[in-house]
This record gives sequence, C-alpha cells and structure tokens, in this order.
Amino acid sequence: MKHFPIFLNVEHRRIVLSGGGAAALAKLRLILKTKAEVTVFAADPAPELTRWAEEGRLALHSRPLAPGDATAAALVYAANEDAAEDDRVAALARAEGALVNIVDDLAGSDFITPAIVDRDPVTVAIGTEGAAPVLARRIKAQLEAALSPALGALAQAGKAFRARAEALPAGRRRRAFWAAYYEKSGPLAFASEGVEALPAALSRLLEDHLAERAGPGRVDFIGAGPGDPELLTLKARKAIDAADVVIHDRLVTPGILELARREAVIVDAGKEGFGPSTTQEAINAMLVEHAAKGAHVVRLKGGDATVFGRLDEEIETVTEAGIEFSVIPGITAASAATAAIGQSLTRRGRNASVRFLTGHDMKGFAEQDWAGLARPGQVAAIYMVKKAARFVQGRLMMHGADPATPVTVIENVSRPDQRILATTLARLDPDLREAALAGPALVLYGLAPRAALAALETSSAKEALQ
Ligand code: SAH
Repeated sequence: MKHFPIFLNVEHRRIVLSGGGAAALAKLRLILKTKAEVTVFAADPAPELTRWAEEGRLALHSRPLAPGDATAAALVYAANEDAAEDDRVAALARAEGALVNIVDDLAGSDFITPAIVDRDPVTVAIGTEGAAPVLARRIKAQLEAALSPALGALAQAGKAFRARAEALPAGRRRRAFWAAYYEKSGPLAFASEGVEALPAALSRLLEDHLAERAGPGRVDFIGAGPGDPELLTLKARKAIDAADVVIHDRLVTPGILELARREAVIVDAGKEGFGPSTTQEAINAMLVEHAAKGAHVVRLKGGDATVFGRLDEEIETVTEAGIEFSVIPGITAASAATAAIGQSLTRRGRNASVRFLTGHDMKGFAEQDWAGLARPGQVAAIYMVKKAARFVQGRLMMHGADPATPVTVIENVSRPDQRILATTLARLDPDLREAALAGPALVLYGLAPRAALAALETSSAKEALQ
C-alpha cells in the first residue's frame, strides 16, 4: 500500500485549486461537497466558476497562482491541463507546505483522490493506486447500487439517536437494535414517510427492543425474473438480502437463492406453473406461520409474481392474517424472451395489443379467444405450453390461422442453457416434440427472431438438438 487512505478533516481549512477548465470543474464538484474554504486561481475561468464564486461557494482569483497563494493550504490541486503550469504550481505549493495533487499525474502527486461513494456521513473511498481507474469506477457503480440512497439520512438520524440507544446494554442487544434499524425499520420508515419519520421509528424500535419484543413480520412477494440474477431489480436484491425466510418456486435459479443470507431459512415450494408441488394451502399456511412469528418472509416467484403466479390467493391469505405485504415486480418470461430474439411485443401497424396466455390451467387445457388470435398480425406469449402445444396449434389452425405464422419457442430464457427454436404454427407441435425441452419454455406466437439473429439462433438451436 503506497498510498495510505485517511479521512482528512478539512472544516475551516483551505483547499486551493489552480485551473479553470474541465479538469478543474470535475475536481471542484467533489471538493465543493466538503466544508473546506475553497480558493481557485484561474486566468481564464469557465462560466461555472464565476457562478460558484457569485454564490459564495468559493473564492475566485482570475489570475495564475503566485507565491504566497498557497499559504496555510491543507491541499493544493494543480488542474491546469498544462504540464509546465502544473509543475510550476506544484513547486510553489510544496514550498509553502501544502500536499499537492496534479490531476492525471500520479508520479508528480503527493496524494490522489479516490473514487467516492457519497452517502454522507457514510463515505466509501476506492483507490487502485492509479493502476485501474476503470476498475475503481466499476466498484463504485456496484457500491452505488448496493447502498440505498437513503443510507446517508439513516446514518444521520442514527447518529443523533446514539445516546438514547445506550439505554440498551452494550453488546448483543444494542447491536441487534442497530441492525434492525439499518436493515428494516429505518429503510421502511424512510420509504413510506421520508426522513422526518426516522426519529419516531427509532423511538418505537427502541421501546420494542427494551421490552425484547420482536417487530411485526411481513411478506414481500417478489418477481425473481427469468433466471439470470442480473435481471433482478435492486429492490428485489435488497429484500432477498434482508429476508429471514425465503419461500421460492422451482423457476427460481440457484444463483438468485445464493443472494440470501446464510442464516436465512430457504424453503423450496416446488411450484412450476401448475405442475406438481407443495399444495397452495401449505404455501399459504407457511407464509402466515413465519410472518406471525416476526419473520421477514420473501416469497420468490419466477418471472413476475403477477403473471400466472397465483398471487392473489397468497395476498388474500396474508391480508386476512393482518400481515403487511408488498409486491416487487420482476421481468416476466415473455419480456425476456422477446428481448432474446431482438423483437418487440407490440409494433405500430402490426399489433396494438398483445396477449399473455396459458396453455393449460388447473382444469386442463385452457380455452382462449382462438378466433381473435387466428387473425393476421396477432402476437401472444404462451406460457406453460410444453404439454399443450398440440392443443394450441390445433385450435388456432381450426380457427383459420395461417399455418405459416411465425412461432418462436424459447427455453430457459436468460440462462446459460437458453435455446431458441424458430418455427411456424404448422410445425409447432412436431418441432417441440423433437426438441425434447427439459427446462421451462415459452412460445412467442406471431414473432420470429429478428432476421439478423435468425440464422445464428436456429443453427445453434439445431446444434443443441443433435
Ligand atoms: N410468473 C412467471 C410465469 C409462471 S408460469 C413469469 O412471469 O414468467 C410458468 C411458465 O412461465 C413456464 O411454464 C414457462 O412457460 C414460463 N417461464 C418462466 N420462466 C421461464 C424461463 N426462464 N424460460 C422460459 N419460460 C419461462
């Protein structure tokens, strides 16, 4: 570690910057977040600099930095975008005892500015000793996504409450209080009522913890998407991470379940569409049982929970039991499948509506508005189609659909073993049989893979079949 990371108190201290162009502005956007007294020297200042000076955010001198200008400065930035001028400024500043940073000159600098994730008062600094700025930016992006924008507000309210939390004995009980605040009650209060709600939420939580009562449980119904963990929403990721209990169906992939905490109870409810599974009644009972004990239950459903997911029955059970719930949307298989073939579900001049159908339901094959679907230009996403292909094909042809209507079957959408089979209505059933699909599959009726992708995908699908 050649560069030692520290957090320097710059309140009431001077930070001096030399330069008036783009590099100077980029650094100043960062520096102006601090409480330092900022002075800028620029012979030709950009308009933003003049504005910031007028707003009283910095002192601006429209001339080059001269001897005496860096006196008592804690830090000096040379951002002139001119090597000779940067060297001159750096030498002057060093002579006056300041630490110097020359923008984009690692070797000539005494210190470097890290990539920063700002959730003031929580600040994360990322440095790679100049070796890999791209990597630093990627890590920053990952942390930005992982840390809620509310974190700063939560930490500020938490800091103001520290003295009161000392009513709890130091150690396990106080740690449990803070964990519950940062992981659950804080974010929930912030999401529903904003920053003003935090002190009251802290007080309530403290009372609960003083009385050693567990908070009320809750159930989040979450769409886990088609399988690729990167297709989860951030909200879903956070809820999975906070869950005490995760109840999932068979469509949810191991990569997604890995995101749960090690202590979380994971229950495989085994449902895949209407296939063999834990009974719906048993799942309903499980949701209530865990949440009633105070657990944060995450009910993970493949795709979007609102599409062929028996969501209403579960919500009704949970509401009847007086348990709070939320629904977090996910990417349904139809969206991901359409994306995989480079098409769009609706298209001007072709179809202004699109239908989501199921091939069969609890009672068997599902009847649909076949006559409507048989008209030219119709698009439908047909779920749970593997056993129903012959039925769907027969019904559509019987109602006069063109046998040459494009049909695309997509298996294991978004997963490493995704397969795409481009066919036609007339060939749907035989081609599906031949393909002997093992994973979940969806039919996009009325859509073929975009021409640019078709050759590639049909041949790879054929290869996979050999
Ligand atoms: N709620 C889910 C659908 C559940 S019904 C969603 O929004 O996607 C189960 C059916 O969804 C499967 O039979 C299959 O037709 C489809 N499906 C779900 N995930 C899939 C995937 N990764 N690839 C292909 N089809 C999928």
